[in-house]
Amino acid sequence: MDHIIAVDIGGTNIRAALFPRDSDTHSAINKIPTVSPQDPAISAVDRVIECISSIWPKDGNVLGICAAAPGSIAVKEGLVLLAPNIEGWENIPLGQILSEKFGVKTLINNDARLAAYGEWKKGAGIGYENLLYFTVSTGLGGGIIANGDVIQGDIGIATEVGHIVLHDKGNRCGCGLDGHWEAFSSGTGIENYVRNRLVGMSAADSPFDSETPTTPQIAAAASDGFPIAIEAFERAGYYLGIGVSNYLHIFNPSCVIFGGGVSQVGELIFTPFQESLKKHVLNLRYIENLAIKMAELGDNAGLVGSAEYIRDRLD
Ligand SMILES: [Zn+2]
Repeated sequence: MDHIIAVDIGGTNIRAALFPRDSDTHSAINKIPTVSPQDPAISAVDRVIECISSIWPKDGNVLGICAAAPGSIAVKEGLVLLAPNIEGWENIPLGQILSEKFGVKTLINNDARLAAYGEWKKGAGIGYENLLYFTVSTGLGGGIIANGDVIQGDIGIATEVGHIVLHDKGNRCGCGLDGHWEAFSSGTGIENYVRNRLVGMSAADSPFDSETPTTPQIAAAASDGFPIAIEAFERAGYYLGIGVSNYLHIFNPSCVIFGGGVSQVGELIFTPFQESLKKHVLNLRYIENLAIKMAELGDNAGLVGSAEYIRDRLD
C-alpha cells in the first residue's frame, strides 16, 4: 500500500503520523520529546529521524514526507533558517537530510502555514478559496489562502503574519523587534500588559497569586471583573481588529479562522475585536459576508496540513 508521512516538529514534542495515500485517517502515530530525556546531546534532527523511523511501514512503501517546523523556513530549499524554540536550529538543511536518509520526496514548511493548509482542506475552511488563518497563542502565527492557493512567497518566508508593524515604538516582540502585532494581541502581549500594570500594586489589590499571571489566569480574573484583566483583553482584541483589517484590505477573504489557546477565551477578546474591525475597515463590504470561524482541527492541524500538503504535491 502507498503511504505518506506527516511530521509536526515543536519545541517540546515531535509527532509523526503515517497515512495511507488515499485516506485522511492515519494508520500509525508516534510522539516523542524533542529533547531526549535519556541523552539530551542527541540532536533534534536525529530525534525527527527516530520519530519517522518508528512509524515507517513494514512494506516500506512511502511516497513522500512533509514536516511542519516552527520558525522561518526557506521552503524551496527545505532549509530551516531559524527555529528559536529548538536549540541549534539555524540554517539546518532538514529537507535534504530527510530525503537523503529516507530516499523519498520530502517537503518542509512552516507549522502555522501548514495548519492553515489543514484547516483549508479538512477543517473550518473547506470550500473557501480566499481565507486567513490566525493562531493566537504564545505568539501569533498563521497562513493565507488566496485564489485557491497557499501564499508562500519567493523563497517561502511569506506570511509571517504576526510580525507586521503596528507601532514603530511599540512593545518588544518575541522576535526582538519593536511594535509587531504579536506583541499586542498574543498571550505574551496580554501577560506583559498585565505584569506592567501590576507593578506597584499591593498584593491585597491583585487577584493573582503571582506577579506574572498566565493568560488563562488573566481570563479568569477578567471574568470575575478585575479591570486590568478586562483591559488586557480589550487591548488585545482592539489590536486584533487592526491587524485583521490590514489583511482584509490586502486579501479580501471570505473567511477568517482563529485557532490557538487565546482564541478560546471567547467574548473577552472577540467583542472588542469585532468593534475594532468595524472601525478600521475601509468599507463595510469587507466584513458583510465574512465568515469568522474557530479552527476545527486543534492540535492535529499541523499533521493534517502536512499530510494534505504532500498529498497535493506527489507526482
Ligand atoms: Zn516580531
